[in-house]
Amino acid sequence: MAKKKKKFVFRIGYITILMVVMIGVLIGYSQTLENELRKEIQSTLKDVSSQNALIIQNEIEGYKNTLTEVAERVSESEESDEWEIVETLKPIAQRYSFYRMGYFKANGLAYTTDGVVMNISDCEYFQEVMQGIIRPSNPLTDKISGEKVAIFSVPIVKDNKVIGGITASYSIDSLKEVLAVSSFDGEGYSYIVRKDGAKVIDSVNPNSFKNMNNILESMEQMDERNAEAIQILKTYLENEQSGYVIFYNSIAKYMYCTPLGINDWYLLDVVPVEVMETSTNYIMHRTYAICFALIVVYTVIIVLIFMEEYKKKKQMRELLYVDNLTGGNTYAKFKEEVEKKKRNSYTSKAFIIMDIKDFKLVNELFGHDEGNKVLCYIWEVIQENCREGEVAARRIADRFTLFFYYGEKKEVEERVMKIAEKIKSYSIQKAGEYIVQPVFGIYYIEKDTEDVDDMLNCATLAHNIAKKEAEGVYFVYNNDIKDKMLKKKQLSDQMDHAYRHHQFVVFYQPKYAAETKELAGAEALVRWRKSDGTMVPPGMFIPLAEETNFVCKLDKYVFQEVCLAQKRWMDKGMKIVPISVNLSRRHLNNPEFIEEYKAILDESGIPIDCVQLEITESAMYEKQEEFIRIMEKLHETGFKILMDDFGTGYSSLTMLRQIPIDVMKLDKTFVDDYKDVKSEQIIRCVLRMAQNLDISITAEGVETEEQYIFLREIGCDTIQGYYFAKPMPESDYEKCMEKKQEEKANEEICERI
Ligand code: C2E
Ligand code: MG
Ligand code: MG
Repeated sequence: MAKKKKKFVFRIGYITILMVVMIGVLIGYSQTLENELRKEIQSTLKDVSSQNALIIQNEIEGYKNTLTEVAERVSESEESDEWEIVETLKPIAQRYSFYRMGYFKANGLAYTTDGVVMNISDCEYFQEVMQGIIRPSNPLTDKISGEKVAIFSVPIVKDNKVIGGITASYSIDSLKEVLAVSSFDGEGYSYIVRKDGAKVIDSVNPNSFKNMNNILESMEQMDERNAEAIQILKTYLENEQSGYVIFYNSIAKYMYCTPLGINDWYLLDVVPVEVMETSTNYIMHRTYAICFALIVVYTVIIVLIFMEEYKKKKQMRELLYVDNLTGGNTYAKFKEEVEKKKRNSYTSKAFIIMDIKDFKLVNELFGHDEGNKVLCYIWEVIQENCREGEVAARRIADRFTLFFYYGEKKEVEERVMKIAEKIKSYSIQKAGEYIVQPVFGIYYIEKDTEDVDDMLNCATLAHNIAKKEAEGVYFVYNNDIKDKMLKKKQLSDQMDHAYRHHQFVVFYQPKYAAETKELAGAEALVRWRKSDGTMVPPGMFIPLAEETNFVCKLDKYVFQEVCLAQKRWMDKGMKIVPISVNLSRRHLNNPEFIEEYKAILDESGIPIDCVQLEITESAMYEKQEEFIRIMEKLHETGFKILMDDFGTGYSSLTMLRQIPIDVMKLDKTFVDDYKDVKSEQIIRCVLRMAQNLDISITAEGVETEEQYIFLREIGCDTIQGYYFAKPMPESDYEKCMEKKQEEKANEEICERI
């Protein structure tokens, strides 16, 4: 769960980071764009302002050139009459729309085109011209009309001496008109101001400052926000710099300042920010709109991906958590639920496994559809019997798991029995009497810290035991089971080790002819001699070796040892008797063993009748046909077959007829109970039957003389048991053989004598 949460947080985190990065990039891009556009605006402003400045400069230059030309003409002409000279100025004044023109002499007397004579010797422009300085005057109030005019004067030079000058006054308004036409569809306008901000020319534009005398003052009066712009503008003016400021005159406006290079005049071009930024705003708005659209699209895509993923996860969860057959829980869901519920400490809990005995048969006999119906029915019953908070699931096939709460253990067992009864009441339609038999394994959970898989293992151990018991409905797990399992595991590991270290040895138990008491054969019995010298009897390890199939390896080993021993005794010239070797039922699963045994035998070089094979009667239950086939093959190969432990299982007479048995070994239990009338009758009956089938009889486990005498009298052929000899090591058996041979030789000598 924590892992899932971490993953979710991580994903949200990285999507957020991605989003932030994306928004950051977009904002960065927008800002760069905005800066570039601003630069573009400044450059436009600068261009416009330079153009306007050029217009003004050209206008002034025009005046200067015109007046200079006139002054030269006057200088060159011999005319000395002032009014005659003035007469020549009149058409020029008219052509250039000068307010008036005038001719003045070095004494300061000026003669104007409108017939006025005045003394201008106190005027600054007169003094400057006389010094050779040519420049337009700052606006003046016309002495005659009182109008605002500017005066442009040029000197008349004769023989390198200024003898007078030509003046032209032009209306300030004419310059205003020149500026007004210039820019931005009437939205832009210009001022010409002096270094201290004082107006030279103001604007006729309705949006310009009204009654402006000083631009800095007007700006200050108009809006408090202009303080910074005023400071910047002052710097431009003081340092003869060009540059822009943004100021407020009802609305925000750009003002571009350009030094004109005429007097201390500056051209101030004004354009509303809005006008300048129309295209910029358009581009920026579009950019922001695109950014916004991208973020929306990105968000929608992310949301769609999340939704799709959620849908898929939901489907996966359903697939993982819902059993498609019963519609109930799957084991994955069950496990998750148990994981959550196991820590509810207020009550005790039980983990239960259930399946149906021989459920395979239901499918095989009545079809899968019927099998599925049974499973659905079982799920219904389980669900009906689940209390609040309890959980159940179908794990695999017919295996169900349940998680119950309980107060007393008895209660769980009663509930299990109730479920079992309900399931057993199900009747398979086609089957008549067929009973669906559930089997439970119950594990009472000891610690809530236990792993669910461990709970499952414990319940499974209990369940396996319940299944082995024919009538058992349930089995409750206890720690002994686990110990036994552990011991089994250890034993199994030890057996492997023992085999590799040759700890398995073969003992021999002689068999004697009942009539003559002569050595008639022996049975090879395996022993496990541990490294500390202790002997482990086969009863302690053969059953487990059968479970793990290790027994096949072991049997082959014993067979090989016996063949080699017989060969050694043969080579010593001893008279050997057949030795029977036990053959586990596990070999039936691998019929190739016959060839392997034959190969071992051939390799040892002993005749096939020196060894016999013992197989227990019970082995034939499982796969009868296979069993018969293998027995036949063994017989055909030349092996004699001994049916071991006869009487402990049940062998039908027909079966006995079908299997090529050579010797029947009557089980010890019969021998022990021979005094019992029923047992005696059975023994006699079996003997008769065997004799009829031409099968020889060996009695096992004969311990007393009484038993021996009885068995001899009723016709047993061979006797095996402690009465004659216990299983013994190879060396003892060899001595036993030698002794018997000596006795026989002595008997023969006696008979001859
Ligand atoms: P089994 O094949 O029926 O062997 C006879 C068992 O009865 C032997 O026990 C033997 O010692 C014991 N016995 C013989 N006479 C008497 C008697 O008078 N009184 C008593 N109380 N017991 C007697 P053992 O050697 O402990 O073997 C037990 C079983 O282990 C064997 O029964 C056989 O089924 C299995 N076994 C032994 N060796 C092998 C082997 O190499 N391979 C396989 N597959 N099973 C083996
Ligand atoms: Mg045996
Ligand atoms: Mg036996």
